[in-house]
Amino acid sequence: MARVFSGIQPSGELHIGNYLGAVRNWVELQHRYESFFCVVDYHAITGSYEPADLRRRTRDMAVSLLAAGVDPEKCTLFVQSAVPEHTELAWIFNSVTPLGELERQTQYKDKSSRQESILAGILNYPVLQAADIALYKSELVPVGEDQVQHLELAREIVRRWNAKFGIDFFVEPKPLLTETRRIMGLDGRAKMSKSLGNTIGLLEESAEIWSKLRPAMTDPARVRRTDPGTPEVCNIYHIHRAFSSPETVEHVAQECRSAGWGCIDCKRVLLNSMEAELAPIRARAAELRASPELVNEALAAGAASATIVASATLGDAKQIMGLC
Ligand code: SF4
Repeated sequence: MARVFSGIQPSGELHIGNYLGAVRNWVELQHRYESFFCVVDYHAITGSYEPADLRRRTRDMAVSLLAAGVDPEKCTLFVQSAVPEHTELAWIFNSVTPLGELERQTQYKDKSSRQESILAGILNYPVLQAADIALYKSELVPVGEDQVQHLELAREIVRRWNAKFGIDFFVEPKPLLTETRRIMGLDGRAKMSKSLGNTIGLLEESAEIWSKLRPAMTDPARVRRTDPGTPEVCNIYHIHRAFSSPETVEHVAQECRSAGWGCIDCKRVLLNSMEAELAPIRARAAELRASPELVNEALAAGAASATIVASATLGDAKQIMGLC
C-alpha cells in the first residue's frame, strides 16, 4: 500500500468544516493506504498560547478524530511532539532550503503583513511540514487547493536534499486530490473557522446545532416564504449535500426552487440528516472521555509505530550526510 501523511492543527474539538474538509476523508483513506495521521502541535506554537490550553486542545482533537472514525488499528495516529525526529529533520531541511522560497509563501506574506514582530517559526513552518511528510517517505498527501503551494515547496526541498547528496533517498510527495467539501461558515460569508465564530462543532448536542442552524444565512432572495430560491447559492444546501441522501438533496432543490417549503422546514430536515451521522460520533466521544486511558493508549501506540519509521528514515539520512 502507498503511504499517506496528513496533519491537523490541535484546534480542540473538530467542527463540521474540518470534519467534512479533511477527517471524513481520512476515515476512507485509512482503508486504502498505509496512513500516518498526526496532530501537529509543533505547528501550533508560533503564536501566543497557554500551555495548558494547548494540551487540552491537542487532547480534544485526538478525541474528536477517534470518535469520528479514525481507527488506530487501521492507521498510525499520533501527536507530532511525541516524535522528535520531526524537528530534527526540519533542521536538516533548513540547511537545503533557500530563504527566498520561504519568503514567497503566501501564508508567510499574509502573517508577516499582520504582525509587527515575525517569529522565525512562521517563516520556517513549511520546512517542518516538508519534514513531517518526508520522515515517513509518504508518496501521497491529501491536500486542499490552498495547501498545494506548501506541498510544492515540500517537493522542492526533498529534490534539493536528494540532489545535494546525489541519492534518490527521500520520496517526492504527490498531492492526493480527493473529493472533499469546503463548507462556508453559518454567516455564509467566509470559510467555517473557529476564530470567526461561524462553526458547528462536531460534538455539539442537537439543541445547540439547531440554535445555530435556525438563524444561519440562506439564499438572500428568499425574503418571504413564497419567494423561490436558488439552492446552489445557499450554504444550507451545500451542507445538505454533505449529510443528506441524494434523494433528500434532490427534494431540497425542488422545494427551494418552487418555494414549496420555507427555509426553516429545510433546516429541520438538515438537522435530522446531521443527527443520523453525528449522534453516534458524539456517543463515541462520550465513551472516550469517560475512559481517558483508551485515548492515551491509542496515542502512545501511534507514537511508538511512527517512531520506528521516523527514526529509521532519520538515521539513514544522517548516515548519508556524514552525521552521527
Ligand atoms: S429552502 Fe433550503 S436551500 Fe433553499 S434557500 Fe432556504 S435553506 Fe437554502
